[in-house]
Amino acid sequence: MTDMTRTPKIALEEHFMHPDFIGYFNRTAINISPDLFGKALESLQDFGERRLEAMDQIGVRTAVLSLAGPGVQAERETATACRLASQVNDYLAEKMSAQPGRYGGFAHLPMQDPAAAADELERCIRQLGMQGAMINGQTNGTYLDDDRYAPFWERVSDLGAAIYIHPNNPADMGYMYHNHPELFGPVWSWTVETATHALRLLFSGTFDRYPGAKLILGHMGETLPFLLWRLDSRWEISNRGTMRLAHPPSHYFRTNIWMTTSGVCADAPLRCALDSVGAGRVMFAVDYPFERPAEAGEWIEAAPLTEAERQAVCFGTAQALLGL
Ligand code: MN
Repeated sequence: MTDMTRTPKIALEEHFMHPDFIGYFNRTAINISPDLFGKALESLQDFGERRLEAMDQIGVRTAVLSLAGPGVQAERETATACRLASQVNDYLAEKMSAQPGRYGGFAHLPMQDPAAAADELERCIRQLGMQGAMINGQTNGTYLDDDRYAPFWERVSDLGAAIYIHPNNPADMGYMYHNHPELFGPVWSWTVETATHALRLLFSGTFDRYPGAKLILGHMGETLPFLLWRLDSRWEISNRGTMRLAHPPSHYFRTNIWMTTSGVCADAPLRCALDSVGAGRVMFAVDYPFERPAEAGEWIEAAPLTEAERQAVCFGTAQALLGL
């Protein structure tokens, strides 16, 4: 059996729950089996023995924690969203201080108010020692390429903070999912939704305007590493309207976009990601507690990587990107 602790690890998509946020989290119950949902809720609220044991078992030195979505992004009252977001960030900061070195943090942000979100991000980075923010897809139907987020991206770029886009449901359920509830959620629609969100940012020129912007995608890049050649080739001949980019689409996957292995424990997509974007762009994650840490740990230790690649994926890349 593989020694799962051989390579030290940083894990990047590891979730928690705060009691006041269970109401928002319940909205994702339509996407997850009731059995897993109940079990997850217990694990999400533990910051002690159970979580640390799961980390130690696979050699995770530091888990960067994030609230399980959608959190206040589903809140209709902007003032409430702002208030609760700071509250949960203070809560996470306490948990981080209680276990020095073991927990990092992605801030939870009230995206209804871009200026408030930028201020809260700055507070979390500068005062609470967090590494970036996790944003759960669209907020009230608005994506991060919307013009209203210009001040937000400016601050993200200035702070050098990493923004992790986590899947969430879209604002409506497209007809293509009609009579196929199994496709709506992690099996398929979250991939479509999140990859599209990243491409909206890319094609709207966000990374030309804010070269310091750092975007993280989960799930091995939400299929995008597989598609880079086609994105470049078809973008050339598509009707691009007024859109202008300084570089072909694939360029930004080597300058502004990183990805994690969350929820994908398979060699072929890992090799595809590494060969497409390089080991300096791919980072280990479990997606605790929705995936099994032991499975992820055992898989990455045995995956067909050079030792330099394994070190980079498990630890080095995240350490350099997040300053851990
Ligand atoms: Mn997740």
